[in-house]
Amino acid sequence: MTIESKLPDVGTTIFTIMSKMAADHQAINLSQGYPDFGVPDALLDALNRYARRGENQYPPMHGIAYLREQVAAKTAACYDASIDPESEITITSGATEALFVAINAVARAGDEVIVFDPAYDSYDPAIRLAGARAIHLPLKGSNFRIDWDQVRQVLNNRTRAIILNSPHNPTGSMLSAADLDELANIVESHPLFVISDEVYEHMTYDGHPHTSLISHPVLRNRCFAISSFGKTLHATGWKVGYCLAAPDLTTEFRKVHQFVTFTTHTPTQWAIAEFLEKSPAHYQNLPAFYQQKRDILLDELKQIGFSAMPSQGTYFQLAGYDDLSALNDVDFVTELTKKAGVAAIPVSVFCEAPMEQKLVRFCFAKEDHTLREAADRLRLFFT
Ligand code: PMP
Ligand code: GLN
Repeated sequence: MTIESKLPDVGTTIFTIMSKMAADHQAINLSQGYPDFGVPDALLDALNRYARRGENQYPPMHGIAYLREQVAAKTAACYDASIDPESEITITSGATEALFVAINAVARAGDEVIVFDPAYDSYDPAIRLAGARAIHLPLKGSNFRIDWDQVRQVLNNRTRAIILNSPHNPTGSMLSAADLDELANIVESHPLFVISDEVYEHMTYDGHPHTSLISHPVLRNRCFAISSFGKTLHATGWKVGYCLAAPDLTTEFRKVHQFVTFTTHTPTQWAIAEFLEKSPAHYQNLPAFYQQKRDILLDELKQIGFSAMPSQGTYFQLAGYDDLSALNDVDFVTELTKKAGVAAIPVSVFCEAPMEQKLVRFCFAKEDHTLREAADRLRLFFT
């Protein structure tokens, strides 16, 4: 008997493909988003200490109280939002789990879920596994804005949820206050939920901080706000995230979560809780820390002949290459990886419809010298 695939068109993710290509060709890997620098020492010490203290058995299904309290404190400090740690916060095994759970908590067979292209690659398969249909709408213009008129046009009584991602991977764009008001208007007149992917909440540049949807008076009761400690703590492999949602939404979220992973790695939860309590400066300093890296990469790319608008958030910088090559973006990143020795991500793979612009994504969550060496290799290749 052959298995009939539930995701027949899905292959290996572009992140796995490009990281492998980078390794095979000894390329500097600016493709998959992860830092090449270490996790803070205090966090590593805490992880070791809590594991040795015996924090190694099942924690509570919704996360240890200490960590939920620290997440509530961080949310209050950053967004002036009051979140109840017991009924409104669930710790998850990464944001990917939280996204999958939120989608499966609300989307039913026949429902529609709106996503905006270029869209992070986990949304569409999770929607389809829930039996629902993803409606892909393109972000518009060179600064990748949501066309709210287009959103209103596709709304119907099957629309169950909208997935938003700000700061946005891969474009680095961010939602404005006006966007949130448009969304709030829609939510007030349509019975739908908002799944807000905020994993890059602490990586925002040029003095424009992130606003969590959980702090918006209307959206607060209709959204699942999802974040990831993988990004915030330079530890993408730790896979610890969380979901903030009003109590009735959290109840449904936890019904699914308890049968997906049940709970999340215990000593890591303790270590993160202690680190958040003792070292809030870590996440407060991330905008300056990463903006300097963005600027290094941006300046270098422009000098080499790429076109680029500064990323507003995330640890990614988009770049146009019309003046450098006529290849499509998949062939272009393959050439860059194999011949120039620098790996990047093609943006078209995140889109259902062909893109107007030819763009590639570079990750700047790297040591300064890594960014400069990558730039040197690109310069050599294009001159
Ligand atoms: N959403 C976006 C937009 C991301 O870039 C990532 C990065 N991996 C995730 C979700 C998943 O986060 P995690 O690694 O915590 O599952
Ligand atoms: N979020 C990371 C990126 O955009 C990749 C995560 C993954 O490999 N699934 O590069």
